[in-house]
Amino acid sequence: MKICVLPGDGIGPEIMEQALRVLEAVRGDGFDFVVEKALIGGCAVDATGTPYPEATSKLAKEADAILLGAVGGPQWDSLPREQRPERGLLAIRKELNLFANLRPAILYPELANASTLKPEVVSGLDILIVRELTGDIYFGQPRGIREENAERVGFNTMVYSESEIRRIGKVAFEAARKRGKKLCSVDKMNVLECTQLWRDVMIELSADYPDVELSHMLVDNAAMQLVRAPKQFDVMVTGNMFGDILSDEASMLTGSIGMLPSASLDANNKGLYEPSHGSAPDIAGKGLANPLATILSAAMMLRYTFNLEAHATRIETAVKKVLAAGYRTGDIYEAGTRSVGTKEMGDAVIASL
Ligand code: NAD
Repeated sequence: MKICVLPGDGIGPEIMEQALRVLEAVRGDGFDFVVEKALIGGCAVDATGTPYPEATSKLAKEADAILLGAVGGPQWDSLPREQRPERGLLAIRKELNLFANLRPAILYPELANASTLKPEVVSGLDILIVRELTGDIYFGQPRGIREENAERVGFNTMVYSESEIRRIGKVAFEAARKRGKKLCSVDKMNVLECTQLWRDVMIELSADYPDVELSHMLVDNAAMQLVRAPKQFDVMVTGNMFGDILSDEASMLTGSIGMLPSASLDANNKGLYEPSHGSAPDIAGKGLANPLATILSAAMMLRYTFNLEAHATRIETAVKKVLAAGYRTGDIYEAGTRSVGTKEMGDAVIASL
């Protein structure tokens, strides 16, 4: 199995080092891999003048999966837009046609105080938001701002084809099958025809997944339910715009950005796996960053691209044990727990494995 590793900028290289050590520790039992490293983001701009060099693109296309740290930093903020590190991320997502974004929001009981919600509402939360990433009003045509009756009018087009809905629906049903077998599809069918089609296609698709319980919720209600009683959800699936908002809302329920992994998949389950946080320039190079989001992203890679469920669960269980044993990096530290750095956290996960 060929893994393209893109450490990126800021804390990227530090957290990636720990994720690679963890992958090495679970090698075997059907998991054998080679790693090829390449540049993306600011470090790629410095070395080659572009945030997504040709050599990186070639490796990413050849690989089965891509593991990415983070990109960006203040030293590149004044560059022209097309040379900004974040452009590298947009380019790789587009080139590989990664249309399905999977964002779990998990709140380990030991970290319940990190959330702004009451511990009993969020403790033990484990939901997965599946967001369509390449369609919807963000890409629909026509779009623009025009003059009409002597004033400016702004307009965008919400559009989804049946095939686009079907392919994201499949990813969501398959993901639900690997978890609690409950899928909630989020739409706004009471006012938007486009999302009426979304609901109709989800219902048609559900015939192929009799073992998964499908429900529907309007997006305004879903936004409320996520803060009222988030534990009612297992997997949620929605379009690009609603998913943009709901996935950020869900991640904030956990209150700990250093803990959240993510995956973006194509139609063949090839994926780009990365922590949800950025390059944290304020703590880069100090050995303070929490590597768990990247380690958990590697576990997602084993589950979704390589279909190695047992290996993925082993890593996730090791992370749970390390938290239960009181190990904390600065971002999740509380009085009475044990403060550790990036490498010590990696050591603890490996010892627990
Ligand atoms: P950030 O996520 O990098 O940091 C926000 C805060 O969270 C900081 O205080 C940081 O120290 C802390 N933090 C983040 N990850 C952490 C970890 N693993 N362990 C401990 N603490 C952690 O967001 P930002 O400060 O808004 O952005 C910094 C840079 O990252 C910018 O250049 C931005 O464009 C970029 N960025 C990249 C991505 C990505 O690569 N996917 C995502 C968001 C932001």
